Amino acid sequence: MQFIDLKSQYSRIQPGIEQAISRVLEHGQYIMGPEIAELEARLAEFVGSAHCICCSSGTDALLMPLMAAKVGPGDAVFTTPFTFFASPEVVALAGATPVFADIRPDTYNLDPSALRQAIERVVQAGRLKPKAVIAVDLFGTCADYRELNQIADDYSLLLIQDAAQAFGATYRGERAPSLAPVGATSFFPAKPLGCYGDGGAVFTDDPGLCEIMRSIRIHGQGDDRYNNVRIGLNARMDTLQAAIVLEKLRIYEDEIKQRQRVAARYFEQLAEAPVKLPCVPGECVSVFAQFCIESDRRAEIQAALREADVPTAVYYAKPMHLLDAFADLGGRPGDFPVAEAASRRIFALPFHPYLQDAEIDRICEIIKQA
Ligand SMILES: *Cc1c(COP(=O)(O)O)cnc(C)c1O
Repeated sequence: MQFIDLKSQYSRIQPGIEQAISRVLEHGQYIMGPEIAELEARLAEFVGSAHCICCSSGTDALLMPLMAAKVGPGDAVFTTPFTFFASPEVVALAGATPVFADIRPDTYNLDPSALRQAIERVVQAGRLKPKAVIAVDLFGTCADYRELNQIADDYSLLLIQDAAQAFGATYRGERAPSLAPVGATSFFPAKPLGCYGDGGAVFTDDPGLCEIMRSIRIHGQGDDRYNNVRIGLNARMDTLQAAIVLEKLRIYEDEIKQRQRVAARYFEQLAEAPVKLPCVPGECVSVFAQFCIESDRRAEIQAALREADVPTAVYYAKPMHLLDAFADLGGRPGDFPVAEAASRRIFALPFHPYLQDAEIDRICEIIKQA
């Protein structure tokens, strides 16, 4: 059994993918070819944002808005300790300081009251200037954007939505990543909407911010390509990847439906099992980038599944404040008890739109017996 089955998806869309790739090989515009603008228009329409900028990865999609907002040394950027490394990594790359706030135990997303306290502590200490918040939609479920936008307004912070795992998920009927003034996503192959390499995109309704990020994407270029007006990146998306995402976008709506089917079956089959199931708040539709459950007996359940050739994975075994890379921030065990408890108990089950009901039932049976 596969943890994420990209082959079934490929066999469904193979002719379209091959034609899309051939078209790029024939027109030969491998960099910034026509598929880039076409994909940007389609993605912006899909999420309901005014502007989309395709780029080289989800990581660069998070870095570009920080650079555009001139976030740098002496600035604090608040984020969750329970995420993929890139969310706080970009803060350090921009020269600013990541400041963590604990998560909610049910959704694993930033806890708004913990965020307020973290901001207050930084304000009181007076050493760093609060500048931005990176909220992460972990495992495909949106964070609490009503509260988070309020907090960002109260403290004049730039709220960035890290929807690398949640492209197309909804919060109060609006699609990720359009819930914050700037949103980022990733098309890494294992994400809900993936390409066949690295890719990402940034979304915003702000035309000024959009223009700056378009410039940053290509070495800080100005109107004239030989006049660079700021320091930027080489953060373009390959035309080939854009052509691939365009094809995959055609079936994405249906794949989101299949993701709901798989999740519903897991919920039903595990309802009686002594494990903690994911929580999707009523105002959210999740795209389930991962289906994570919690148990005090994680190792035993994982071993039983492995025995039956069912792969599992742990996201995330170490919260960000305990990573060696952030040792200089002085994080200690006990700083973020909710994130730490989750990291000890959580594990992910196989999940993709092509998982069969019978396979789900078999996985759940093993869990119940273990
Ligand atoms: C995958 C991921 C990223 C980074 O995306 P890449 O395309 O791999 O650079 C950022 N944040 C989160 C939460 C992710 O899961």
